[in-house]
Amino acid sequence: MKKRSVLLAFFLLLILFLSLFALPQPSPDKLKVYISVDIEGIGGVVSRMQTSGEEYQRFRRFMTQEVNAAIEGAFACGATEVMVSDSHGSGQNILIEELNKEVKLIRDWPRPLIMMEGIDETFDAVFLIGYHAKEGSRDATLAHTMSGSRIFDIKLNGNSVPEAGFNGAIAGHFGVPVALISGDQTIVAQAKEMLGDIEGVVVKEGIGTIAKTIHPEKAQKLIKEGAIRALKRLNDFQPFKLQTPITLEITFKDEVYASLVGMLPGVKQLDGRTISFTGKDMVEVSKFLSAILFL
Ligand SMILES: [Zn+2]
Repeated sequence: MKKRSVLLAFFLLLILFLSLFALPQPSPDKLKVYISVDIEGIGGVVSRMQTSGEEYQRFRRFMTQEVNAAIEGAFACGATEVMVSDSHGSGQNILIEELNKEVKLIRDWPRPLIMMEGIDETFDAVFLIGYHAKEGSRDATLAHTMSGSRIFDIKLNGNSVPEAGFNGAIAGHFGVPVALISGDQTIVAQAKEMLGDIEGVVVKEGIGTIAKTIHPEKAQKLIKEGAIRALKRLNDFQPFKLQTPITLEITFKDEVYASLVGMLPGVKQLDGRTISFTGKDMVEVSKFLSAILFL
């Protein structure tokens, strides 16, 4: 009899112990998500006709819907605050009347932190939606780096970076990891190479300069699922922190820009088209690049 009671007590304790681990995790009192959005990596977008031409009005709606999908995923995981940065062209692409009502939206230029304006150390995760590969990439849809007309390449501390790398380094400055990226297979691979094993959602496959794309609604479904997966494994991601001071190299498409920027104090001209500037951190580097982009 006594032996049975001891056994019973043991099993009861075991069940109590196991149930503690099975209980749902308490939702965090703060989970802030920052979403930076471009258009070239949105599902269905394959040419300039969709990013700024005659089909732009249709495709900015798909851009808005992909952002909404990421926002829904964030709120489904208990996000307490979401900020969205509209970061293509005019900075005013997202159809605000169709955007999730619970978020704040950064619009227009110029901005010191460019595609990451508004981020700070209070955020917990970054999503990069609709992103594209860097200029010169093979099998990439509408590849460019910050400015298709002016810039050929950007390096940080000697490494060539896509916009996702530059923006990841800004987030890293504030101690915030990138958790999710969406776009074609090439930018997803470039981002993972720099930022680690983050969640990647491939909404189209770049083939040379064309793309094999999935349906916009399918892309939205995958992005929502990717956002949920990303926030569930938030502890896996590390902020992308660069060693300071940070050297920025810009290779322009036109020698005139390099010779003009090279005249500024503190700037070195390295060759006909390349200048270098060293800033104390990513904020200083981003401000320098912003002035060049928007002048
Ligand atoms: Zn871009």
